[in-house]
Amino acid sequence: MKVLKFGGTSVGTIGSLRNVKRIVESIGEPAIVVVSALGGLTDRLIATARMAAAGEGDIAAEIDAMEKRHSDIIESLVATDRRNAVMASVGKYIAEMRDVYKGISLIRDLPEKTLDVIVSFGERMSSVIVANILGDARHCDSLDFIKTEKWFNKNIADRTLTDDLIRKSFGSKLEHTMVCGGFISRDRDTGEITNLGRGGSDYTAALIAAALDADLLEIWTDVDGFMTSDPRIIPEARVIPRMSFIESMELCSFGAKVIYPPTIYPVFHKNIPLKILNTNNPDAQGTLIDDSVQEMEENVRGVSSLRQISMVTVTGDITSNVAQINSRTFNAMARGGISVFLVSQPDCDSSFAVTMPESEMENAMTALRTEFAPELQSGDVLEIKSRSGLAVIAVVRESIRKIKGLGARLVNTLLRNGIEVMAVSDGTSETTIALVVDIGDVNRAMELVHGACFSEQQNQLLR
Ligand code: ASP
Ligand code: MG
Repeated sequence: MKVLKFGGTSVGTIGSLRNVKRIVESIGEPAIVVVSALGGLTDRLIATARMAAAGEGDIAAEIDAMEKRHSDIIESLVATDRRNAVMASVGKYIAEMRDVYKGISLIRDLPEKTLDVIVSFGERMSSVIVANILGDARHCDSLDFIKTEKWFNKNIADRTLTDDLIRKSFGSKLEHTMVCGGFISRDRDTGEITNLGRGGSDYTAALIAAALDADLLEIWTDVDGFMTSDPRIIPEARVIPRMSFIESMELCSFGAKVIYPPTIYPVFHKNIPLKILNTNNPDAQGTLIDDSVQEMEENVRGVSSLRQISMVTVTGDITSNVAQINSRTFNAMARGGISVFLVSQPDCDSSFAVTMPESEMENAMTALRTEFAPELQSGDVLEIKSRSGLAVIAVVRESIRKIKGLGARLVNTLLRNGIEVMAVSDGTSETTIALVVDIGDVNRAMELVHGACFSEQQNQLLR
């Protein structure tokens, strides 16, 4: 059994929905279909809520426009005998939406909970519509089986409960194709509507695939697959036909926006292959992600980048105990809930650097100043300083260390072209070489690094 997820652009227009219908109906057996809200609708729902809270704009007109977008699709694609019923279901959601927006306008406030209700309408409406466009499909309500719990103010999936409810909802054998909304969920304790975070429909699909031991998870989107780099920066970037779960996780966490990063864990854990496919170009081969890519048929899998990065550098006489310093740093960061991208020793052994999102730089400074307070006192640590406006370039491949000297060669390529490399982590990860550069240099550096990894000549060189 397959699980297919169609993103916002795939369900956004009458034309793309026709493709969705063709794709699902050609499977020849029942499948599970997870859909996003109509493309752009989630942003629109949020923007309208903010307008309502600020007492600005014509909220009624906004809602009318959203309603029309849905009813146009229903008119064009839902069979006549079902049309009224589908219009009525969507009409009920629109009416509910009007009430919530009215409430926001009245109290001039937008609590998180209310915003969660507002955004949920997107997937609740799109899923009902898609279920009624596909021949012989049934709708099922994700709010019944995707459950979240609160974790430090964040809603995260309660995997055990969710797995169990998914199995109960779908049973052991599908009689019909089932369509449900991605992204939306309920709090397991309060029953309130929550969600899995922006882009979370991919994760819904992965949770379902994992709970039901699906044969395959297909993520249908508007690009031909995972690319060797961001094609807007690197026109030569090409589709990666196949990669491992780990490589895809690494590329995602370093900025590749193809799928929502948490998506990979559930299917990786169950070893369920994952395919990225293009709804507008369904015959393209896409990218297959599974665990069988061990051969060295290509050198590097992909190059991605993260911007808005800061680096905190600790300088002092720390040569004597690098391992202990590293673990103290990691622990201090973990206690502060700060996600660290890389730790590196930029020059000799007298300093080391930690890299994190810009938004977490202040916290990181505080955490490190606290952790190394004794050394700052004694003078073993001379200073802890920060620098912002940086970017990290990640070069990803399993067992990347087997490509001897790659890190040094990439650094040299950049230096030769006048680009300063602030830090490099080469050898700390099995999968990634990360290079820190100034944000102003990042596009050029990406081009150089991508060129070095993927030009034919270099491929020979790296082998
Ligand atoms: N509609 C939600 C969003 O735009 C979830 C998703 O599309 O995955 O973030
Ligand atoms: Mg998405």
